[in-house]
Amino acid sequence: MDYRYESSDNSSGRNKCAACFRQFNKMEHLVDHMRTSFHSVHESKCGICRKHCRSFESLREHLIGPLPKQECKNIFNIRGCRYCLTILESSNARRVHQERCQFSNVNAVGLLARMATLGIRDSLNIDNGYSRGTQVVALACKMVGGGSDGSLDLCGRVCLIDENENILFHSYIKPLIPVTNYRYDTTGIRPEYLRDAMPLRQAQKKIQDFLCNGEPMWKVKPRGGRARILVGHGLDHDLDRLQVEYPAVMIRDTAKYPPLMKTSKLSNSLKYLTQAYLGYDIQTGIQDPFEDCVATMRLYTRMRSQRHGAEDYSLASDPQNRNNLAAWRQSELERMSPEGLLALSRSDFYCWCLDS
Ligand SMILES: [Zn+2]
Ligand SMILES: [Zn+2]
Ligand SMILES: [Zn+2]
Ligand SMILES: [Zn+2]
Repeated sequence: MDYRYESSDNSSGRNKCAACFRQFNKMEHLVDHMRTSFHSVHESKCGICRKHCRSFESLREHLIGPLPKQECKNIFNIRGCRYCLTILESSNARRVHQERCQFSNVNAVGLLARMATLGIRDSLNIDNGYSRGTQVVALACKMVGGGSDGSLDLCGRVCLIDENENILFHSYIKPLIPVTNYRYDTTGIRPEYLRDAMPLRQAQKKIQDFLCNGEPMWKVKPRGGRARILVGHGLDHDLDRLQVEYPAVMIRDTAKYPPLMKTSKLSNSLKYLTQAYLGYDIQTGIQDPFEDCVATMRLYTRMRSQRHGAEDYSLASDPQNRNNLAAWRQSELERMSPEGLLALSRSDFYCWCLDS
């Protein structure tokens, strides 16, 4: 394909970014913008004007507000899904779609969670990769307080589920140091629940071995191995408190995934993401880590199911090779069309659609 422009006039669109539609006075400014913007097929796109947005949050602002693009907002109001922000063919199609797109925190969840409080559930089996494909599991913890003022987070309860929301492990955990604040209002944890609970060291080893699934840690690789993909929200903190180490390439964190972050690049809370993208409330009153596991797993599978165009190179996490525009000379880039520049640009994050 030849992306070069022969004409030298500056008619409309000449220096307009083909992704975010920003207009530049000079082609060199557009090239500079493209070098640092990492536009790609993996960005969220408006289903109406096709504008690329940095995150779902910025797409939400574009479609809903506070400062929406009016033409897009008008169509979105009639046939846009308020959860996944897709545009459907008709308002009727939207109704049918949205019913499937919205999840609920069904009573069965509460029931399961209550049953789980009765004791440990433990089916963390190492299968050495005998089941088909890479398995995905979600993990969440609830913290109690340690230290003199009770502000030190200690894991008091942990849950792991599989992709079908089955509980693999659900247990109270006895921390290594004394608990000074049980945070009962949110954790529902009483001293007697932890007294004879599974010691942290034992839980740590179990979870560690389960995640690696027979693969030595140093051999864990992103594709084709036995190790499991780990989903969660704010997993650095959970894993730190559990003293579990796990390679970043296997982690899918809904708090750190750029499409799910705020436009300010800060994390959204899991409570907010669940309300906005899945359509139900969590973390009201006493919280069970099972509920957080289910919410993060649903967010993960929704993100993974997106259909983005294929790219010949998908790598994002290598800092040496973050954007292949770097390999081109400025003068060559300045002769390309905005579409040509976009075709060369690559994302700076690992899109979860690549897991499917
Ligand atoms: Zn742009
Ligand atoms: Zn993608
Ligand atoms: Zn639009
Ligand atoms: Zn939807």
